[in-house]
Amino acid sequence: MSNPYPLGLRLEGRRVVVVGGGAVATRRVPALLDAGADVVVVAPELTPALRAHADAARLRWVPRRFVPADLDDAWLVQVAVDDPQAGAAVSAAATQRRIFCVRADDRHAASAWTPAVTRHGPVTVAVLGGGDPRRAIAVRDAVRALLGAGEGAPPPPAEGADPQVRGPALGRVALVGAGPGDPELITVRGWRLLTEADVVVADRLVPGLLLDELRPGVELVDAAKIPYGPSRAQEEINRILVDRALGGASVVRLKGGDPYVFGRGGEELLACAAAGVPVTVVPGVTSAIAAPAAAGIPVTQRAVAHEFTVVSGHLAPDSPASLVRWDALAGLRGTLVILMGLKNLAAITATLRAHGRPGGTPAAVVQEGTTGGQRVLRSTLDAVAADAVAAGLRPPAVVVVGDVVGALDG
Ligand code: SAH
Repeated sequence: MSNPYPLGLRLEGRRVVVVGGGAVATRRVPALLDAGADVVVVAPELTPALRAHADAARLRWVPRRFVPADLDDAWLVQVAVDDPQAGAAVSAAATQRRIFCVRADDRHAASAWTPAVTRHGPVTVAVLGGGDPRRAIAVRDAVRALLGAGEGAPPPPAEGADPQVRGPALGRVALVGAGPGDPELITVRGWRLLTEADVVVADRLVPGLLLDELRPGVELVDAAKIPYGPSRAQEEINRILVDRALGGASVVRLKGGDPYVFGRGGEELLACAAAGVPVTVVPGVTSAIAAPAAAGIPVTQRAVAHEFTVVSGHLAPDSPASLVRWDALAGLRGTLVILMGLKNLAAITATLRAHGRPGGTPAAVVQEGTTGGQRVLRSTLDAVAADAVAAGLRPPAVVVVGDVVGALDG
């Protein structure tokens, strides 16, 4: 058998027919949509996931069995049925029209194979295993691990830069949410940018294990160790981000949870933009939702809470600088999630009580949620402040107030 000839198909706007509407089609269709193909699925029935694509008009569904004329305008056909006879009929119609045919049911009879793929920014690596998909996947996983670890990963070009015309390199900054604490809860994009970074500026709350994976030679700046008060320290962080990016570095500003939830991410974005540095934001899993979840508390639950409010407890409720309307929050029936609230918890709960939130409302404190050090305290609005002190709870912790605390308890 001759070697396959690899190609990168540019499918934008081109008709691709998928025959079959089951599990195989469900796995194959997203990459076709991602490539911009004009996807037509021919199948009497669809899985719910494919149905959702059809309902959203991302693909066209032809709800019947295949007929050869289905291929008349197609550039490519994917057989995603497990009946070899039906597969052979599609193959025959494809051959007659000189359309390449990928077959899930019989790879030996196929005229094209889909490779195992790993994508790293603009780079796509596709692996064919000589007709053996398991071999392809094993090699793909090895390549992915290699590129993911930053070894041999191509330096990401500055956004908008023309690779043909190389002036002085302009770096860039990404504000990346590291997630709530469990190192596996960073996003795929955040992880990729982190492993490609030249400079990483990390917060105190960033999971330490993530920093283990940085590539050798990376400059790691510990933002918690900047020896100034909070506002000077923020200016200093902004200066480091801008400075390194103007020097050509790919900078990741790694922040606990989500960069825009009480993280001063907005200020950093504005500082970069003002200096003409390209800057992007990669959202993260916020502790406001994830820490309760890790403690078995859903922030919403049907017929229990149809709203949740995330609020900073950093300033005392009677502080003139506090922008929080605790009196109004006391009137809500839904879930209240308080970040940075441990220090002022007694005053906060007293204020909520004074403005009408019932003292028996369930309340919980989740310390170091999603990490190995997670601690959970369940109490009531009346008692939670004293209970938290008695239990010796420390930041970082979120406080959850509302009937969702205990909603999942049997
Ligand atoms: N941007 C972050 C929040 C920064 S403010 C996010 O989206 O999660 C810092 C506060 O977040 C802490 O005082 C604490 O209230 C909360 N926090 C962060 N990580 C936490 C964790 N693992 N468990 C509980 N609370 C956490």
